Amino acid sequence: MKHTSLFMTPSLPSMTSSAKKNSHFDKLSWREQSVKLTFSRRKTMALHVKPELIEVRAPYRTPIKLAQTFVNEHDHWIRQKLFDIEQRQLQKPDLLNARHIPFMGFNVALHVEVADKNQWQLVEQGLHCQLVNKNQYLLTTLADFYKQQAQFWLDKKTRELVIKFNLQHRYTGLKLRKTKTKWGHCSSEGVIQYNWLIMMAPEPVIDYLVAHEVAHLVHMNHSAQFWQLVEEFNPTYKAQRNWLNENGHRLTIE
Ligand SMILES: [Zn+2]
Repeated sequence: MKHTSLFMTPSLPSMTSSAKKNSHFDKLSWREQSVKLTFSRRKTMALHVKPELIEVRAPYRTPIKLAQTFVNEHDHWIRQKLFDIEQRQLQKPDLLNARHIPFMGFNVALHVEVADKNQWQLVEQGLHCQLVNKNQYLLTTLADFYKQQAQFWLDKKTRELVIKFNLQHRYTGLKLRKTKTKWGHCSSEGVIQYNWLIMMAPEPVIDYLVAHEVAHLVHMNHSAQFWQLVEEFNPTYKAQRNWLNENGHRLTIE
């Protein structure tokens, strides 16, 4: 992984040589890594840490020396951020070599066999995937499995909640998408969008997401009244929300 070297091996010889170039005050650096400096019409400096990039965003005309001091002062914070990113990467499931896949709180056994057509079948013993080529088609076939399950379960759960609380007049339809940062979205026209990767989460978490989006049919914000309604729909929602905040990054197909 490319970003590993950023955190784990800051003193590699190749990096030391590049650090020499950066040791003047014309460029920013952190532990011998170069740091990108971006100026804009902002009032304060901010640090952004991504696996492949450390960036300082600063107001126009910020002296380089000041920006470097800012980086130095956040040494611990940067290390912690990179460590968190590293941990998150390590926790992602290796589906290509997995013998089980997470599905609505179950560890479903995964059986793969070679065939002349790609298809899946969910049976009592697990998920059977017939694939032309495992390396090439397993992930797309699993994605298809999760999407189809999402279509069935999220539609069913959403409609049940909508009917139970008499919100039929506000709900106009369901969409599924794989988004990077959002689990769900509710438009002002009453269309609810879900990230189908949520099917990898335990069922109570899925129920929380449905409650959250259905509550947006009434409140298009995250006000106290909104959360009150979520609680009415789903009394244990806080535990599920925490679970999603802490584990959401693991629900991924890569
Ligand atoms: Zn929301």
